[in-house]
Amino acid sequence: MSETISHDILVLGSGLAGLRAALAASIATKGKIDIGLVSKVQLMRSHSVAAEGGTAAVLREEEGDSLDLHAWDTVKGSDFLADQDTVTLFVRNMPGEIFQLEHWGIPWSRRPDGRIDQRAFGGHSFPRATFAADKTGFFEMQVLYDTLTRYENTTRYDEWFVTSILTEDGEFRGLSAIDLATGEFHVILGKALIIATGGAGRISGFTTYSHSVTGDGIAMAYRVGIPIKDMEFIQFHPTGLIPTGILMTEGCRGEGGYLLNKQGERFMEGYAPGKMELAPRDIISRAMITEINQGRGFEGVNGLNYAHLDLRHLGADKINERLGFIRELAMKFVDVDPVYEPIPVRPVFHYAMGGIHTDINGETPMKGVWAAGETACVSMHGANRLGTNSTAECLFWGKITGEEAAKYVRGVTGEVKMPQEAVAKARAHLYNDILKREGKESIYEIRQELRRNVDKNLGVYRNGEGLKEGCRKISELKERYLKISVRDRSKAYNIDLMYTLELGFMLDVAEVAFNGALNREESRGSHARLDFTKRDDEKWLKHTLATFSAEGPKFDFSPVDISSWKPVERTY
Ligand SMILES: Cc1cc2nc3c(=O)[nH]c(=O)nc-3n(C[C@H](O)[C@H](O)[C@H](O)COP(=O)(O)OP(=O)(O)OC[C@H]3O[C@@H](n4cnc5c(N)ncnc54)[C@H](O)[C@@H]3O)c2cc1C
Repeated sequence: MSETISHDILVLGSGLAGLRAALAASIATKGKIDIGLVSKVQLMRSHSVAAEGGTAAVLREEEGDSLDLHAWDTVKGSDFLADQDTVTLFVRNMPGEIFQLEHWGIPWSRRPDGRIDQRAFGGHSFPRATFAADKTGFFEMQVLYDTLTRYENTTRYDEWFVTSILTEDGEFRGLSAIDLATGEFHVILGKALIIATGGAGRISGFTTYSHSVTGDGIAMAYRVGIPIKDMEFIQFHPTGLIPTGILMTEGCRGEGGYLLNKQGERFMEGYAPGKMELAPRDIISRAMITEINQGRGFEGVNGLNYAHLDLRHLGADKINERLGFIRELAMKFVDVDPVYEPIPVRPVFHYAMGGIHTDINGETPMKGVWAAGETACVSMHGANRLGTNSTAECLFWGKITGEEAAKYVRGVTGEVKMPQEAVAKARAHLYNDILKREGKESIYEIRQELRRNVDKNLGVYRNGEGLKEGCRKISELKERYLKISVRDRSKAYNIDLMYTLELGFMLDVAEVAFNGALNREESRGSHARLDFTKRDDEKWLKHTLATFSAEGPKFDFSPVDISSWKPVERTY
């Protein structure tokens, strides 16, 4: 093993949440804190750069928006599973985040009078999506990255693949990682950890997410005993481009786009007449699948039947100014120019509402460990997230966790001890187990079967039979995973090995999601069961908590904060 590396705070992940956390810790300590920022991809390749549509915040109280309204929209959107104290804290702090980014230099899109513009988004009763054309995430990442370079206290470990969280006596000590460029195994010690590893979109075969989004942080936290919360709630975004799943931002509908079935009807009229194409995503996704199942969709290849997203009436000028990237994507990938033709779309696996269990400040039950961004479940989105609330969550909880971790580290004296046993275990897992497996199973086949299973049984609509089949299949795949072999034996950029480790993480995350979904005998938000079609507040107004055990996830539950609004029927 090479020399030991040690930092005060380790930030695992360089997406919006990770960068904002590193920046907050730097600002809070005037650059005096020593941070290690680790990412398995080059910093600007984190999935956050792909965010298109916008970031939610109340900026226009004088025009009728209010913090209360943003909070209510979020709570109602969540089908009452969001913790209301968390949501309240969030909406109060978001305007400040938008102005902070403005001061750091982000080119927010503007109104003709020069003030920051905002567009409409699904489930929001007021246009409060702050945006930078249709490349919001890219500009947010860029401005955070730029600002972070003003501080010299952050050491970057780009293309370092973290394999485990190292603990001793139940306390955090550090991370084990492979430097992908050299294949070297390293230990990075730290006094505090902020996990910001993003979601788990790639457990699905039809997803908007980058190939790197494989739930690693969720699985690593789970494996060291941190509970995973509400993992059964998975968001389908209504408008994934056929056949790749590339996202056509909700901003398309925010700018006035229509959804049409085969008969040319704006079918949302029949499902959410008050909101039409700007209803929340779970409701639109169900409407689209219903239209398709009832024969009013267009026929696509591989069963990917679809509807039309029609932007033609917006005109070329608006499309070019506000949705230029969408036009480019549709033209490049399916040869459709949205100025003249409708875009073929269907609901696509988009977002994990669940994740690492944290309190309102993003702290996990393990001392010295925080989680922020999509990987965390601070319980802001409940059973269904509203568009633009995620980049917002990343920014705000990135900030809080960075500040909290910085405060915590000041109270930790002495050097971090090398956790010998955990390091030996992490090494053994790689070199005496994974790399020694000599079975005939292919990780690529297992991965494909995992994705087929998720797409078939953990979709927009679910039922007990399918979920049971899904759980059985995951157990089978986990067995087969023990009989794989990593064929590539080279050290530099051993992507075969990386995919193998990612597959192990995805199997754990999918196992928790499937079992959680099977347990939850109700329909709430994105979790729509054909065998339990009603929301059941008496039995199920509670969070799912899954804890690792050798036999599989153990389930427990925790209460939901409903201190501001009592649950009511959710109609739009
Ligand atoms: C196409 C698309 C469009 C979207 N548009 C919007 C939008 O308009 N508005 C909105 O609010 N939300 C949007 N979202 C959702 C939002 O962008 C994401 O939820 C958010 O950006 C996630 O940020 P993050 O910081 O949590 O993680 P990510 O940006 O996914 O970053 C994860 C980081 O963790 C690192 N990492 C992961 N595993 C490891 C490991 N094993 N070792 C080392 N490093 C690791 C990665 O390298 C990466 O740096 C969109 C999502 C997609 C996919």
